Amino acid sequence: MTAPLVAIDGREVRRRLDAEAEVVVVGSGPAGATVAAELARRGVRVVVVEEGHQARPGALAASGVRAMASLYRDMGTSLAFGNVSMPYLQGCAVGGTSVINGAISWRLPPEILAEWSAADPALGEALHPDAIDAHQARLEHRLHVHPTEASIAGAKNLLLARGADALGVAHRPIRRNVDGCVGAGRCLQGCPHGHKLSMDLSLLPDAVAGGARIFSGMRVDRVVIERGRARGVTGVTAGGARFDVRAGVAVVLAASAIQTPCLLRRSGLRHGPVGEGLSAHPGVSVTGRFAEPVRSWQGATQGHEVTGYRGEGLKLEALGFDLSILASRVPGVGADFARRLAELDRYAVWGAALRAAGRGRVRPGPTRPLVTYSITPDDVRKARRAVRVLGDALLAAGALEVYPGIAGFAPVVRDRATMARFEVEGSLVASDYAMSMTHLFGTARMGSDPARSVVRPDFRHHSTAGLYVADSSVFPSNLGVNPQIAIMALAARCAERVVN
Ligand SMILES: Cc1cc2nc3c(=O)[nH]c(=O)nc-3n(C[C@H](O)[C@H](O)[C@H](O)COP(=O)(O)OP(=O)(O)OC[C@H]3O[C@@H](n4cnc5c(N)ncnc54)[C@H](O)[C@@H]3O)c2cc1C
Ligand code: SF4
Repeated sequence: MTAPLVAIDGREVRRRLDAEAEVVVVGSGPAGATVAAELARRGVRVVVVEEGHQARPGALAASGVRAMASLYRDMGTSLAFGNVSMPYLQGCAVGGTSVINGAISWRLPPEILAEWSAADPALGEALHPDAIDAHQARLEHRLHVHPTEASIAGAKNLLLARGADALGVAHRPIRRNVDGCVGAGRCLQGCPHGHKLSMDLSLLPDAVAGGARIFSGMRVDRVVIERGRARGVTGVTAGGARFDVRAGVAVVLAASAIQTPCLLRRSGLRHGPVGEGLSAHPGVSVTGRFAEPVRSWQGATQGHEVTGYRGEGLKLEALGFDLSILASRVPGVGADFARRLAELDRYAVWGAALRAAGRGRVRPGPTRPLVTYSITPDDVRKARRAVRVLGDALLAAGALEVYPGIAGFAPVVRDRATMARFEVEGSLVASDYAMSMTHLFGTARMGSDPARSVVRPDFRHHSTAGLYVADSSVFPSNLGVNPQIAIMALAARCAERVVN
């Protein structure tokens, strides 16, 4: 009989709990799950402490709004403040954000690794491309990463291919970590069939099979440090009790680029640029209305991408929303809005992720992290270009009209010449662009200089023994591509260092 995924559910813990392990991992997303699986495979006794709960595929809601309420941090209302107020989305569940992500799987681009090692040669050795590639190949195999099949892509993805062909720009089916996907279009609400190989259905069961224990519904408040060494973590269970987990060998933080720096600061570890340098991929999207049904909620949630603008720092993807979210993308009021709502099956929404130069900062707040983030004038120009290209691709694919959704410009565009004008006349005011962030990096940067980084090239904290950071907080920059495989590859490297 296989062991249950969760060893202790914090909702049921109402009295003080004490536990111990060799290594305590905080967070069970791609970073934490990978560290746990790698360590358990090598015979290390691991406890994973996760604030969220286990999501059961059969019980997941189809409604995007309801999924946000149960599986997203802050019910999907996390907001970064800056020259544009920008929502940032994160999962809070056993499996972390992988439970509600789009399953898009990209390797860490070699040119990014080269950038990192040019800036700090010690990283070239620590993150040697051959070692990273070996981890990525193994992870891709385990997570069944493969291109989206045309048979389950659905209209929104096939239309993006048509639009990209018309523009003469490179595109391809998205490689995703799914097994037996039937194109139910609900990855962002959690796959109801269990076909997305999120961490709760892949590396966490591997970790448990190797002897790891997962504690869910337990929020870590701080790392316990004694005589300069991390000795464990302490926090509170969803049942309202205090808990302590002692770590004989190490504590590994994998709580994400937002929560990890907060944990460090709450633990009194303020050395180096902890919480500084937040970088991201802000995203913009454009909606188009077609004559024929698109049924945007059907087919692979995100099954096709345009790669031809990556040199400009833009990556275009088809997006898949259920009706509750899709309705918010339709313009108009009153009878006009009602008419458009009645045609909701005709709409497609495509988005672009920007490799932005903007930077931000994270600090612990009284109830949730305080996050600031501002984009640069160049980023706004990129956003403007992205909106133009998205609108152009939709029209080239046959959309009757598109809705750029940018203040001061035509709300409805029906021809490509007007869309081209947008790139010249469209607003360059950051706050005119409705953006959101799903990929976050850089708040506990890795590097050899303790004044300019928080962890060493071997993932160890510069000033505290036995403390490691494994998530994308350590990334020196953003990537320009979807990060989960890169995060897992670095986390696997971190696990090697913990064992060494
Ligand atoms: C809607 C959406 C779609 C996305 N789609 C894709 C995609 O298709 N492909 C891709 O590559 N990337 C995608 N991403 C991004 C990707 O999922 C994340 O980059 C990745 O999951 C980050 O991994 P992580 O382990 O660092 O953090 P997370 O996955 O966020 O996991 C961190 C975990 O730590 C837990 N935690 C935090 N603080 C504490 C605490 N104090 N105590 C205990 N537990 C704590 C959290 O609850 C969470 O479960 C998407 C993100 C979003 C929001
Ligand atoms: S597209 Fe649907 S079936 Fe496929 S993995 Fe996502 S939610 Fe599951």
